[in-house]
Parts: sequence; C-alpha cells; structure tokens
Amino acid sequence: MRIGGIQKYSTIDFPKKLACVLFTQGCHFRCGFCHNAELVEPKQFGNCLAEEEVFTFLEKRRKALDGVVISGGEPTLHPDLETWLRRIRDLGFATKLDTNGIHPNVLQSLIQGELLDFVAMDIKHCLQASYYDSISGISPNLESIQESVQTLLSGSVDYEFRTTLISEIHRREDMLAIAASLRGARQWTIQSFRPQKTLNPQWQNFRPWSAEAIGSLRTELAEKFPELRIRYLGFSS
Ligand code: SF4
Repeated sequence: MRIGGIQKYSTIDFPKKLACVLFTQGCHFRCGFCHNAELVEPKQFGNCLAEEEVFTFLEKRRKALDGVVISGGEPTLHPDLETWLRRIRDLGFATKLDTNGIHPNVLQSLIQGELLDFVAMDIKHCLQASYYDSISGISPNLESIQESVQTLLSGSVDYEFRTTLISEIHRREDMLAIAASLRGARQWTIQSFRPQKTLNPQWQNFRPWSAEAIGSLRTELAEKFPELRIRYLGFSS
C-alpha cells in the first residue's frame, strides 16, 4: 500500500481503543469538503513510507496501542490491503477500516476473512445520483455503495456510518432520506463540517449546520438509531 503518513496516537479514531492511523494515498472520489487533498490529488502526494518502516513502528508500539486504523484516501483501492491487515493482526492489533464503500467485494472479503474489528463508512448524501455526484465530485456506482451498506447492516462486524453535514448541501429532508436508507443501523455519526483546508477551495465558503438545527435533527432521529452521535470540532456526543 502507499502510506502517505501515520498518526502515531489517537483516542478518537477507533471506538474504545488507543490506536494509530495509517493514511493511504489515492481516492477516486473528489469530495469538495475533503480535508486530505495530499492523499487524494496525485500531484500533492508526498513520499510514501516504506512498508518495513511502518511495520517497525508497529512492532515497537505493540504494548502501547490496541489498534490500527487504515484510513485514506480510500484504502480499498490497494490490492495488498488484505496482506497488510493480516500482518497487522499477526502483531496482535485490532483493526479498523475507513471507507467510502465503493468496493463492496473488498469489504465483504475482509469481513469474511475476519480481518476487521470495526468499519467506518461514509454516507455522503442521499443515495441518488444527482445528490451523491454533487458531493463526491464524480458519478460513483451507487449500487456498490448500497451493497456496502447492506453488508454492514447484515454482517457481524461492528460499524458506524458517518455523514458530514454542510448547510449548503444537506437539507433536513435529505438527512431524513439518508436515515431511511440506513434503517436498522446501530450507529450513525453526524459530523459537523469544518470550513477549512478543503479539496475544493470554494467549499471553504460553505457553513456547518447550526448547533440548534443539529440538535433538532438529533431529537427527530434519536429513536431510529440506538447510537446517534454528533461529532463537533474535536469532540463527540
Ligand atoms: S473525503 Fe472523499 S475525496 Fe476525501 S478521501 Fe474521503 S472519499 Fe476520498
């Protein structure tokens, strides 16, 4: 895999675990709000970390960390993701995958191989082309994304769905439509948008929802999800 960077210690990226985060380079999507242009735009890629450099780091942290998050970019683009996960698990770490859900076959294979303890999947908008294209910057195969949703809903691995909420992009009725498409999900995390360092600079003019509007939405949706989390800048509730 192409690893563009490591966050050596995190208490918030892997539920109930102290973890490090490996950031893979490369993503088909071009989400306007993306904060990781250096992992998405090939012209901005830095030097990759060598595989052995990453595993030397992980071996040294075996006693200090519980888990490893593989994030991106989009990790499922990398054909050796499974090999990496096996090596990481052989070191005794729990594993979490962050994904946009575009490769359901990869997701299913990793789950069937018992290589994942937790999956966080982005749900960027209503699962309709006109909406999803407007935020992802491409025309992703929505059947694939729906298949990944169903895989998590019906599977045995822990998961959360995540949606970044932007005033100019998501209306209340859009969020209700997304909620309907996630019916039966244990956990949905709604993240407040941060208007800074966006892949599309124009999106820095966009705004997060107000705390009042988010609170009202939460009240409306609370009964539909056992765990409905709101993540503001740097903390969650
Ligand atoms: S936010 Fe969008 S563009 Fe950025 S890494 Fe995730 S899927 Fe790719």
